[in-house]
Amino acid sequence: MKRTTLRRAAGATVALAALVALAPAYVLLNPPRKWFSARTFTICMASGENSLAAGFTQAACEAGVAAWAAPLAGSGPFSSVVSTSLGNVGFNGNDGLSTISFEDPQRALSAGTLAATTVGYYDTTQSMTTNGTTFYAFTDADVVFNNGIDFTSLGDALQNGANGSQYDMEGIAVHEMGHAIGLAHDPVEAATMFATVEAHDYRKRTLDDVDANGGQHAYAANSQPVTFAAGTQLTVATALLGLSTAAFKPNSKVYARITVLDENGNAVPGASVTVSVTRPNGVVLTGTGTTSSSGRITFNTGTAQAGAGATGVGFILDVTNVVKAGMTYTNPAGPDDTQVF
Ligand SMILES: [Zn+2]
Repeated sequence: MKRTTLRRAAGATVALAALVALAPAYVLLNPPRKWFSARTFTICMASGENSLAAGFTQAACEAGVAAWAAPLAGSGPFSSVVSTSLGNVGFNGNDGLSTISFEDPQRALSAGTLAATTVGYYDTTQSMTTNGTTFYAFTDADVVFNNGIDFTSLGDALQNGANGSQYDMEGIAVHEMGHAIGLAHDPVEAATMFATVEAHDYRKRTLDDVDANGGQHAYAANSQPVTFAAGTQLTVATALLGLSTAAFKPNSKVYARITVLDENGNAVPGASVTVSVTRPNGVVLTGTGTTSSSGRITFNTGTAQAGAGATGVGFILDVTNVVKAGMTYTNPAGPDDTQVF
């Protein structure tokens, strides 16, 4: 049984650039701007994200910064540092200090926005031409995650379950850092720089080729575009068990969330996915469904049961087969996820 997840606007920038149809799919901020020298982003961990453990929050934001290192080909200006003394400063203006804050301390973000980045601070008296594009110099950029959003990360979901309507902080951090290096929203759904993201979509942690090409165009001299060509191997990128609710309730259901990608990281829509779920009482359920345009499918496995039960490990999820014409799937040994609720 497939469940349609709610769409929520992701990571709107404070200053939005127009979507200009360029030949390469990436979209730069307008006018183009970038960092002319190394930039450190300080992760404000004084209070952290209330629904995500501090360790997962920190790891998600550090990964968000690090994700751009490779496409920027060593010319990237990014590094991150964690500060417990700075406090959650939020959008602290054009103060020369770039920060990542949580819980939107200034209540600057509208409902439905997951996070936002200031991109409006740049100096038009400084310019640099890279790969044929003239860029102005960024002078500041800050990232703020919204209050009241239930954030998660892949590490958190694997450990604690993909529960309720949670959003992958790491993927959102990568997206916001994309704005912070000079990218605007991309019309390609698979791109990390696409404007919206669904709950429990863990694909956006990994850059799409259009994201990488945008970063390279701005920072890597003589950049050569990369193409993540369509592959032939079916891979289960994530298979996660989680409650339909944020915490265990008598009416909670258990969902199995599957994402199918090819070996090059492209989403595989229209793949037939067969799963086996063993409940804590030993009852085995099976089902088959078809992945959406984003390569994802969610199965409802019925009412949650608490505790490890007869299986000793609670719920057990195994993706037993994935079928798509012209592609092959090899089922790895063992279950794909287990979870005690
Ligand atoms: Zn955005």
